[in-house]
Amino acid sequence: MNNKNNDREKTVLIIGAGIAGLSAGCYAQMNGYRSQIFELHDLPGGLCTAWERKEYVFDGCIHYLFGSGEGQPFNQVWQELGAVQGRRVIDHDEFMRVADLSGNVLIAYCDPDRLETHMKELSPADQDLIEDFATGVQQFTTFDMSALQAKPKALMGPEDWRAFGMKMLPFVAPLAKWGLVSAQDFAGRFKDPFLKRAIPHLFAWPEIPMMAGLSLLAYMHTKNAGFPAGGSLEFARALERRYLELGGVIHYKAQVEKILTDGDRAVGVRLYNDEVHRGEVVISAADGRGTIFDMLGGQYANRKIKRLYDGHMSIHSQVQVSLGVNRDLSAEPHWVTYLLDEPLTIAGEEHYEIGVKHYCFDPSLAPAGKSALVIMLRSNYAYWQRIYGRRLYDTEQLQVADIVLGFLEKLYPGIQEQVEVEDVATPLSYERYTGNWLGSTCGWLLTKETMTMMIQGMDKTLPGLEDFYLAGQWVEPGGSVPLAAASGRNVIQMICHTDNRQFVTSLP
Ligand SMILES: Cc1cc2nc3c(=O)[nH]c(=O)nc-3n(C[C@H](O)[C@H](O)[C@H](O)COP(=O)(O)OP(=O)(O)OC[C@H]3O[C@@H](n4cnc5c(N)ncnc54)[C@H](O)[C@@H]3O)c2cc1C
Repeated sequence: MNNKNNDREKTVLIIGAGIAGLSAGCYAQMNGYRSQIFELHDLPGGLCTAWERKEYVFDGCIHYLFGSGEGQPFNQVWQELGAVQGRRVIDHDEFMRVADLSGNVLIAYCDPDRLETHMKELSPADQDLIEDFATGVQQFTTFDMSALQAKPKALMGPEDWRAFGMKMLPFVAPLAKWGLVSAQDFAGRFKDPFLKRAIPHLFAWPEIPMMAGLSLLAYMHTKNAGFPAGGSLEFARALERRYLELGGVIHYKAQVEKILTDGDRAVGVRLYNDEVHRGEVVISAADGRGTIFDMLGGQYANRKIKRLYDGHMSIHSQVQVSLGVNRDLSAEPHWVTYLLDEPLTIAGEEHYEIGVKHYCFDPSLAPAGKSALVIMLRSNYAYWQRIYGRRLYDTEQLQVADIVLGFLEKLYPGIQEQVEVEDVATPLSYERYTGNWLGSTCGWLLTKETMTMMIQGMDKTLPGLEDFYLAGQWVEPGGSVPLAAASGRNVIQMICHTDNRQFVTSLP
């Protein structure tokens, strides 16, 4: 391997300054490439973001950051990207609560023993299932999920596969047991009617494979899934700083219209303002559908890729109502999903559950004695798209905020009067600010169907197109910030391999 060959000064053009694009940029610079990032927005981070309204910061992303614990899985990548050094991490003892309005509460304690005791108190009749559940959390505390991405699958030789197999061996049984069971399926096995209803909402969406939920509690228990103080945008800015310090260049408000090709090679990008930038390698860390079908005109999409994007796959999009309230909620549990007896009809859909979260655990996000509060509701992109561009869209946003506030008033009497700031993000907001197809929050939703895709890994190249790579959540089913970062790292490993050079990393 020779890092001092003519490839040293290759120019790598990267589309998107989300976590995957920034990560790809940092590793490109560490490996001696000249890189430039083109970002449509005027901020780094993509979905990993937050927004300021008056004195409040509303976080739009990280609930848990895998790799937040020193020396633990994924932490090395965050160290290399300069994202965690000097950053306070806030760890919780419980992930969230699910409560009905009759006073039943399921607390997702991260400590498996505590979780087991609590759940058995709720339902002694479900003892066996509960023990199974707690054992599952315990088992995943030592599972190294980052091993799935330590090296791109395309580059793994027999020796790598053997080492990978050895590492995975103790987890084959738990993965088989929990990987193909959704939270919804698991809940169906319980006798207790409250647990039956609550468990599907314990890990944000009912289709989530239990393996992901168990790993989440396990990583929270080992303090490897905390919240980075300062919030998601501050976190993304650390990667931006690292990239600039490594000599990278970011063009903001620079939306790529076309990826330029020379038949079978990517040779540059053209922006919407008609600027043309040429390079030897192009990486798209932007929306997958937009990249393949708009920027490349569908020319390099085979049947498999067309099938992937034909709309049959599950995608998660949401409405986030953010409120700045002149009230101290710090004594309240930070995240509760309420199960409703009567549905709230929001954006054309009936909702029997509503998630309410406050961020008082991070005092930098609201003034003293006040609280930043967010309410998250799954919402259909098509509904919002049908009314976008008309006054109805604004009216609907106001209506959603009113309905949510009406509900909160029952929980916290007087809160309506204490609201100082109100903000509603719809799936269209996510699409507009990040270009993500259908306003997806994580690319392909992690379900038991996409679980296999996640473990096997998706292609990061397109058939018939050389010098072109895909990174980010659309090639990492389930998305997430660590997988996006690992994805950016993986494509630079692939480029180094093609150039016959040793992949190297450094620390800031
Ligand atoms: C509400 C919410 C909660 C989440 N919670 C968590 C969590 O708790 N933990 C976790 O790990 N993950 C979480 N995620 C998921 C995580 O944020 C994403 O999976 C990850 O940030 C995706 O990064 P990415 O770089 O792949 O894509 P993106 O963030 O989508 O970045 C793509 C970038 O490309 C830019 N772009 C698009 N098109 C163009 C173009 N034509 N030209 C130039 N630039 C372009 C976009 O503006 C964007 O900056 C959450 C996401 C959301 C929305």
